[in-house]
Amino acid sequence: MASFVRGLKCRLCGAKYPVSPANSCSEDYGPLEVDYDYESIGEALTREKIEMRPHTMWRYQELLPLDNEPTVGLKVGGTPLIKADRLADELGVENLWIKNDAVNFPTLSFKDRVVAVALGKAKEFGFDTVGCASTGNLANSVAANAAAAGLKSYILVPSDLEKTKILNTSVYGATVVAVRGTYDEVNRLCQQIADRYGWGLVNINLRPFYAEGSKTFGYEIAEDLGWRLPQHVVCPMAGGSLIGKIAKAFDEFGKLGFVTPRPVKFHGAQATGCNPISHAVKAGLETHRPVRKPNTIAKSLAIGDPADGYFASQLIRESGGWAEDVSDDEIRECMSLLARTEGIFAETAGGVTLAVTRKLIEQGRIPRDEEIVLCVTGNGLKTLDAVADVVEKPALIDPVMSEFVALLEPRREAVLV
Ligand SMILES: *Cc1c(COP(=O)(O)O)cnc(C)c1O
Ligand SMILES: [Zn+2]
Repeated sequence: MASFVRGLKCRLCGAKYPVSPANSCSEDYGPLEVDYDYESIGEALTREKIEMRPHTMWRYQELLPLDNEPTVGLKVGGTPLIKADRLADELGVENLWIKNDAVNFPTLSFKDRVVAVALGKAKEFGFDTVGCASTGNLANSVAANAAAAGLKSYILVPSDLEKTKILNTSVYGATVVAVRGTYDEVNRLCQQIADRYGWGLVNINLRPFYAEGSKTFGYEIAEDLGWRLPQHVVCPMAGGSLIGKIAKAFDEFGKLGFVTPRPVKFHGAQATGCNPISHAVKAGLETHRPVRKPNTIAKSLAIGDPADGYFASQLIRESGGWAEDVSDDEIRECMSLLARTEGIFAETAGGVTLAVTRKLIEQGRIPRDEEIVLCVTGNGLKTLDAVADVVEKPALIDPVMSEFVALLEPRREAVLV
């Protein structure tokens, strides 16, 4: 396969750099982004070609930053886009879809997409050790995909993370380090580790490549809508990267003539206990103010100082979308609402997204007759504790028919016994 990457480019000043494991501009510390030759991609890639390939994220590989064929995470992506009619009824809207990365392979979150690209690129750069700073899902994904790729991994997480997410990382043989501190402190430490040990840290020095993997979430939405764009996307935000990459995916498909361009409103979802981006949007700030001590059950979204906070709030505003945040109780309630209506058990981040969607519909910011896609990014089995107190406990009976009947028809109890 030919590579269509021209190099890296600063997202603030546009300065160009050769491809290397680097993430910021030496002029202004702006984040670097992969720069593609879209004209050549347009000559090489067609919708028909894509449709003939396997249903994985790699069916769009010309739009991803590897120089050679992918070697890591070959089965990632291709997750369902579900028409959610029962949930739509509940919310009083006409056209609602759920993009369900709660069932992404292999670690049940959209992070497998970014990790597949980052570790593939790490191999191309010749790294034998990789790692990340993580709020949980990234840790699971780096550990699993590194194990399968034969790479050593070091994973740093805040020490207050859910036990399940830590177990789900250690099991793959990764070295897990729990840090007494917030995600932002873990992230700062990882930057120093990358510099000192020369490792490939997926969301640090490999970040420009890593972030590109998120675009495939957007490509799949457009393709599965029948090569069309929706009118609204509601997306959970942690570092604020995914929401921007879905927008980039839609733009690229428009540029390549794969979809008819259409204004899409991007809406961002956060928890009130860690809402730097939604607060910036609602308060009309130029950029976010960091939240020092995040405090929410939506730990996967608990990044107080998001790397892409500035870009996410700009995108939301320019697209005509909005951002909201919701309480832990609303998150729990909406995790169970999604499960009860659509049979999808999403993690806390999914509860955030649904609760914010409901709020935006009630506010009239999402009209009830327009097309909405809700982004479900992680699996509820990893955050079981969150719903332990809101779901009904099973009834307990002895193994006799009369007790079951009594349960179902309490008033006939006397007759039967
Ligand atoms: C990481 C994560 C996000 C947010 O991703 P960003 O690109 O950092 O905004 C959303 N949902 C889940 C479940 C995640 O793990
Ligand atoms: Zn720059």
